[in-house]
Amino acid sequence: MRKTLLAAAGALSAAALVLAGCSSNSGDGDGTPTVVTSTNVWGSVAAAVAGDKATVTALYTNADGDPHEFEPSAADTATIADADILVMNGGHYDAYMEQAAKSSGATVVDAFALAGSDDHDADDHGDHADHDGAGHNHGTENEHVFYDLPVVAEVADKVADALAEQDPENAEAYRANAATFTTGIDGLRSELAGIRKAHDGTKVAQTEPLAGYLLTEAGLIDAAPAGFTQAVEEGQSPSAADRAAMQDLLASRGVAVLIYNVQAIDPVTGAMLDVAKSSRVPVVEFTETLPNGVTDYLVWQRGQIDALAAALDSEKK
Ligand SMILES: [Zn+2]
Repeated sequence: MRKTLLAAAGALSAAALVLAGCSSNSGDGDGTPTVVTSTNVWGSVAAAVAGDKATVTALYTNADGDPHEFEPSAADTATIADADILVMNGGHYDAYMEQAAKSSGATVVDAFALAGSDDHDADDHGDHADHDGAGHNHGTENEHVFYDLPVVAEVADKVADALAEQDPENAEAYRANAATFTTGIDGLRSELAGIRKAHDGTKVAQTEPLAGYLLTEAGLIDAAPAGFTQAVEEGQSPSAADRAAMQDLLASRGVAVLIYNVQAIDPVTGAMLDVAKSSRVPVVEFTETLPNGVTDYLVWQRGQIDALAAALDSEKK
């Protein structure tokens, strides 16, 4: 658990690691595996598996900025080059990692590739077959797979495999940590099942397609104009028509909740927040990376899911 602090320490610890790496480059010192991840979200997943047996460094740890626009520094690039294991989001979310992985000797865990591989779908979604049609459609290529809980659990398993291969002595510890993490993910998924039971088919809107997978699992429908959310994700200004449609949706209370990505804020999303507030549409804040003070993936997601459930329940009354 403490190791997640390393992930949260970010760029500073990345620089420190590079210095340490220079002095013990040959033979890799004590043989402790090093895991490097793009964002601290993936860092927190890797840290849950690594426990106190491996070092995890996340490159992007800013709770306010937009990870879509992150460019690694020279020190970050050196940190990536020294890694035994790279954990990345993939799907162009962290293209610098995809690039680095091509020339790296490290074991690579690519979450987006796992999401698209389909082998996680079969056993995980059997409990709501009635929604299969609208369900887990990776064909739409939403790259925010860190909101896709079965995929996150699968990433934890792959990290455990990679660590076990690097460090066979601690293989059992890594696998046990991954199993504990998966139990936590299952807990979150039961909470989503609870939301689905109470609010299946309820319309919500988000400012960016951030939580798409999670909303789908919770039985919620994102009614925001696709053009609006796509433009925000790409850092562009939504068209006047999409803006008007989003505004109408909120002003007419056509959605039960506005999910507001606090890391994709611009004058347009800010204006939508104002419309939601003045129309008394409950607003739930979601983040792309871990908020300040949070180092644990499960704690982070539980907080967001709880807030979402509370907002939906308040709307019902
Ligand atoms: Zn995003």
